[in-house]
Amino acid sequence: MNHTYQKLSTRFYKKSQADKIPKPQLIQFNHELADFLNLDLKNTPEQELARLFSGQTQLKNSKPIAIVYAGHQFGHFVPQLGDGRALLLGDTLAKDKKTYDLQLKGSGPTPFSRGGDGKSPVGPVIREYILSEFMYKMDVPTTRALAAVETGETITRQRTHPGAIFTRVAESHIRIGTFEYFAYQGDKESLEKLLNYSIERHYPHLVSTKSPANDFLNAVTIKTAQLIAKWMSIGFIHGVMNTDNTSIGGFTIDFGPCAFMDDFRFDKVFSSIDRHGRYAFHNQPSVAVWNLERLKDSLSVLADEDLNSITETFTSEFNKSWIQLMGNKLGIQEPSNEDSDIIDMFLLYLQKEKLDFTHSFRNLSELLKDDSSKVFPKTDEFETFYLAWKRRLSDQNTHISKSMALMDSKNPIYIARNHIVEKCINQAENKDYTFFNELNEVLKDPFTKREGFEAFASPPQKNEVIEHTFCGT
Ligand code: AMP
Ligand code: MG
Repeated sequence: MNHTYQKLSTRFYKKSQADKIPKPQLIQFNHELADFLNLDLKNTPEQELARLFSGQTQLKNSKPIAIVYAGHQFGHFVPQLGDGRALLLGDTLAKDKKTYDLQLKGSGPTPFSRGGDGKSPVGPVIREYILSEFMYKMDVPTTRALAAVETGETITRQRTHPGAIFTRVAESHIRIGTFEYFAYQGDKESLEKLLNYSIERHYPHLVSTKSPANDFLNAVTIKTAQLIAKWMSIGFIHGVMNTDNTSIGGFTIDFGPCAFMDDFRFDKVFSSIDRHGRYAFHNQPSVAVWNLERLKDSLSVLADEDLNSITETFTSEFNKSWIQLMGNKLGIQEPSNEDSDIIDMFLLYLQKEKLDFTHSFRNLSELLKDDSSKVFPKTDEFETFYLAWKRRLSDQNTHISKSMALMDSKNPIYIARNHIVEKCINQAENKDYTFFNELNEVLKDPFTKREGFEAFASPPQKNEVIEHTFCGT
């Protein structure tokens, strides 16, 4: 383990230790990821893995810390948050020559716990494991899941749950809120160190730039715009896009009350704490801009010149990515701005008919084989879309099988459907990980149909629909 973050200064963290737990037991370990991280754990017995990834035995050279950060939560600034239930074990150089952090989540209180117990029930551990690995498979930049371990403890929330610890792997744990923390403190020296470290780690091509603050802000804006477009192209709602949950590396972090939509609705909200829909599906781009404005505020003391406009850069990058992704989902090889009408037509139709987002996109290619397919209610809106879409595809002058192949490579059969994740969690509450293991297996290849796994592909029955998700931490 290396400790590059600790070298910045003691103002960035506090030392901390994992709690002793009664009975660490491995739920799941991601050997493929461990191998990628050069961790050399292939022959380590399960019991030892459980002890290592619950902080009972320390990884070589581990010097655990809790990181400080601030953040705007639902629009309100909190000057100090920090890792209240997480421990950064250190970082490691992986096979791609990039540095990755290893962090335990739920290993007990830290100096930033603010009265919380620093623990995690098994539910959020299961959810983060499934969703983060699925995001990775869908080519969405994300933190990843290395391990899930039962603690043998009982955690009390509204009711009692078995406790668990999650090991998160991230390209860093620097959030917009980390910049806000030092800006609020008026600590220009630390802010500058943080900026340089962030550039080295995430945007090395900017290391010798003349305007680091501006170029960094631009780079984060572009990456974030691409990320939000990717989320939305697979029906993902993060649910708690506070600035402390927004990475400056442009990847998905903090899988709290997040979920994938079944029936498509632009204003869909799952999170039980998001009462006004601040983080609704269609608000995600504007919220990301709002968060990036907070990064801009924090960086302003480091720049001699005025920093660039976020809105312009974000909007143009988001639109470009969105049209590319959604156009491909519709079988359009080289989508352009003019295709936004066809994309909107289809989405409005899905919304009006309350159709399943994932299923509908996947089934569209079937229509090209057999346009009498009964999957889509043949309303006026459908006919208008269908004619425009077919015309667009035939204008491409490529064989229709090419469009179908493109669609089938972009539209997954299996996603981490909310009601199935919920089933995995309910089983895990009774220490049964059958669904969890099966779902992880299926999601390793979301585009390939597998016999016997039909239930994982189906939208929920009426009585299975999950309307609300909870942080549950
Ligand atoms: P979140 O929005 O879920 O990422 O959490 C916001 C803040 O609350 C972070 O600073 C967390 O570390 C802290 N937090 C959440 N759950 C707990 C817990 N059980 N104990 C201590 N701190 C927590
Ligand atoms: Mg958080």
